[in-house]
Amino acid sequence: MSHDPAPHDMRDTSDNGPRSGLGAGRRIDRDAGPGRLPVPATAEGRAGLAALLEDPGRALIAVDFDGTLAPIVPDPAQARALPAAVAALRSLTPLVGTMAVLTGRPALTAVEYGSLDQVPGIVVLGHYGRQRWHDGELVTPPPPEGLAVARERLPAVLADAAAPDGTWVEDKTDALAVHTRRAADPAAALERLRAPLLRLAAETGLRAEPGRLVIELRPPGADKGIALVELAGADGRSSVMFCGDDLGDRPAFSAVRQLRATGQPGLGVCSGSAEVAGLADEVDLVVDGPEGVAGLLGAIAAVLGR
Ligand SMILES: [Mg+2]
Repeated sequence: MSHDPAPHDMRDTSDNGPRSGLGAGRRIDRDAGPGRLPVPATAEGRAGLAALLEDPGRALIAVDFDGTLAPIVPDPAQARALPAAVAALRSLTPLVGTMAVLTGRPALTAVEYGSLDQVPGIVVLGHYGRQRWHDGELVTPPPPEGLAVARERLPAVLADAAAPDGTWVEDKTDALAVHTRRAADPAAALERLRAPLLRLAAETGLRAEPGRLVIELRPPGADKGIALVELAGADGRSSVMFCGDDLGDRPAFSAVRQLRATGQPGLGVCSGSAEVAGLADEVDLVVDGPEGVAGLLGAIAAVLGR
């Protein structure tokens, strides 16, 4: 099977305006509507996409959940994958070697909020790869050491730091996320809590990872880069594509570049937002938020399904 994306390469995307926070290097491809395959900004990314289209049966596609399949909302419990994204996953999963969702959420939460039990064959890696769900079966390790201590001490740590009203803790079972999105000044609230949370993480053997108006305490050794490389496996994938939107996705984008350095084609796709700065320069393609991701996945499925 051969799919030639060349006709699209002629499109001029230079008039796509910058969005605040995206950095100077990449522009959102706003043409990623249904059926339109966007063109990665880098030669390596174009090669990665071409390799995926050329040999989809050995390709790995992994996507983050929040901000990538599901729009960011004030209450994370209300986040849901866009129906268009679920539809695209249903079309795409049978056409590629491995279709995966890779999230910091518990795997079962992503399955529920993403309606992923409606996507036969999809693999869901939760807790940054510590959990694996596939075909209704969940494999999960015991909770990390130190987390119970951190959970017990966290309320006092927040009180001592005079955490502003609106600060709240999301217990992810294997991680504790401290959100400031609902505070009057979310960024200032996050800054106020940064040092105390780093200290608590250090004292309990956890890592404090920043994200979109959140700092998450989680076990070391779990990150999306490690998880992506494990998913890619030792034997050759035709291509490894990863889509994400946040700082926690950085290790996965880095893994794509590292795999490419070993001769493994691949591409990194950013679900662009005004909230996260700098990521756009680390990827091959920026699409316009979860709608853009759904459009991209749907376009790939449409090309492969022809
Ligand atoms: Mg995300």
